[in-house]
Amino acid sequence: MADFDLIILDFDGTFTDVDAEAVPFLDHYRRGLEALAGRPIDEAWAEAVEEVRREPDAHGFRFETRIVAPSHADPYILSSCVSQLVLEGLGMPIELGHLETLFHDSYRHADTVFRPDARDVVEALLSLGVPVHVVSNSRTDNVVAKLERLDASLLSRMEVRGNARKFHLVDPEGSDARFDSLPESRAVEGLTRPLYLRRGRYYDVLRSLWDATGASPERTLVCGDIYELDLALPAALGASVHLVGRETTPAWEREAASADRGAFSTELRGVLDRV
Ligand SMILES: [Mg+2]
Repeated sequence: MADFDLIILDFDGTFTDVDAEAVPFLDHYRRGLEALAGRPIDEAWAEAVEEVRREPDAHGFRFETRIVAPSHADPYILSSCVSQLVLEGLGMPIELGHLETLFHDSYRHADTVFRPDARDVVEALLSLGVPVHVVSNSRTDNVVAKLERLDASLLSRMEVRGNARKFHLVDPEGSDARFDSLPESRAVEGLTRPLYLRRGRYYDVLRSLWDATGASPERTLVCGDIYELDLALPAALGASVHLVGRETTPAWEREAASADRGAFSTELRGVLDRV
């Protein structure tokens, strides 16, 4: 008998090599920021990256006022944190609308680079006969287009749920005792800010998958590349988790992911040891 009744995979950074994909994005983004600033920004950019690295917990992706994903999670979040510091350092007004437009324009130039073991690992997971679902913050059509390039036959064998908004700290649709039992946040060894758990939009997706498959959280395995975004909520609900990180994944994320029913690997195939 399989160990799990449901397997949930994140997409960007989990199937893909985000650092490689972001190279052309960064090129466009930095040139665009330079145009916004109207002067060279290389020095200010390097200083801002240093500042974020010095105090990683003070920066990050924010939902309203609260940090909901770490600054180092991927090059996209890091660029957003850095660009605000660059403009601030140059004494320029931070027009979030302009930065958002720049971000989306640049994102269109991002590459598609799969982790080398992506296709084989997904095939191996599908061969277990357990439902496999992809749950991503990216738009469904973006994820589907990338999966078509990996292997179009995968799309008939697993469902993709995009726009999961794993960073939204809101209540789920309708009251729910399981969600209500979650604390606002938890402390994590090695992280100096709280890690917020009540991500209601992500919960809506998880609950709909549990309803559709009949699986329980305890019989679910969730695999992702950012502990805070992908794994903290399902782990708090009793699911098993697997963090597929990079060499740069900090110790606190590796340790948090490895507690209880979790594990960490730098290669995607590490998840196969769990099933
Ligand atoms: Mg990801």
